[in-house]
Amino acid sequence: MGEPRREILFGDRMVENQERLLRQLVTRLFLQSPFYRAKLTAAGIEPGDIRTLEDLARVPFTTKDELRNGYPLGLLAVPEEEVVRIHSSSGTTGKPIIVPYTARDVADWTEMFARCYALAGVTRRDRVQVTPGYGLWTAGIGFQAGAERVGAMVVPMGPGNTEKQLQMMVDLQTTVLTATSSYALLLAEEVERRGLRDKIGLRIGIFGSKRWSDRMRARIEEILGIESFDIYGLTEVYGPGIALDCPLHRGLHYWSDYLLFEIIDPVTGEVLPPGREGELVITTLVKEGMPLLRYRTRDITRLVPEPCPCGSPYPMIDRILGRSDDMVKVKGVNIYPGQIDYVLKMVPGLCSEYQIIVTREAGHDRMLVRVEGEPGCDFAAAAAACRRHIKTHIGVGVEVEVVPRGVLPRSEKKTKRVFDLRDT
Ligand code: ZN
Repeated sequence: MGEPRREILFGDRMVENQERLLRQLVTRLFLQSPFYRAKLTAAGIEPGDIRTLEDLARVPFTTKDELRNGYPLGLLAVPEEEVVRIHSSSGTTGKPIIVPYTARDVADWTEMFARCYALAGVTRRDRVQVTPGYGLWTAGIGFQAGAERVGAMVVPMGPGNTEKQLQMMVDLQTTVLTATSSYALLLAEEVERRGLRDKIGLRIGIFGSKRWSDRMRARIEEILGIESFDIYGLTEVYGPGIALDCPLHRGLHYWSDYLLFEIIDPVTGEVLPPGREGELVITTLVKEGMPLLRYRTRDITRLVPEPCPCGSPYPMIDRILGRSDDMVKVKGVNIYPGQIDYVLKMVPGLCSEYQIIVTREAGHDRMLVRVEGEPGCDFAAAAAACRRHIKTHIGVGVEVEVVPRGVLPRSEKKTKRVFDLRDT
């Protein structure tokens, strides 16, 4: 099946391998990418200057705006006849980003995705229900290709049509559910409402989204009777499948033979040491169609400094805490939604769904956390406890309103949680 397995490299040998691939990448970009040739030359970098991981810090970042400005194929780094497919980011604001893939890029992505399934324990005896979208979006086809590579049976549903999703889940006894975390929650709540728990055969969930709280995860796992795995990725860098939750759930292993991860301070751009939280920056080591040098993902996480006791040789990032775009500064304090998830978990009776609303009144910031409470929970007491925990753990005074479960909106894609209504 496919190409032979790559040699797995630990420690220094992994770094040597990454540096070798980095040198090849920079040389290739000078020869084949007008965008990067101009960008590197403007930064005073010549072919051969970037030889080690330390040298990489000299290379300017690549931003999402630059990819947008290259619309549609300005960052293509191979002759057009080598491109076999394109995908596109959703483009909620402005132009979308078009990402060209060569046959090798498609094969590499499939290999990474297959590793994710294998790490989660999915085998050829599994039946994988794919609910993420197909088409220009990368998710659906990536989940399908990876599952086929491990030899599982794919049920390619695509998004929506909850009625049919539940029917397939029951009639085909699918064992693996792949979804965004918000759609998984919606399906789980529907399974519960219809009393289907004993009729489904799920055992594993692979859920992707920028962020989901432990409480939301526990609720999905409990209702569906599954073990769930957090998957990470972005269209600009292949798509989902570039990192997956470890079976010990201590972080997400990423494929360091394909990708180089750095963490930077999102404000100063300074490279941060392992363990420190900041923005994830990715360099693609072998990508051909649209390689990226130091791409700013806007995702906030940290590199896990310790090797994983599960025995995987691949390094780990922590779960995504939030997006640097979602970071709100309230009363001088930087707040990521991930921190709110963390606090909500400490208050009994609160659900995982919440919104953060920031306003300015009479020159002062005001932050309201609106969160769902379980039926039977004392809303006033839960709100007071939540307020205290936010003050203690995040260091900011906020208001908390607890609303009945089901009041806040769910969506099939990413749920918007932060509403900054201050005039800027
Ligand atoms: Zn592990």
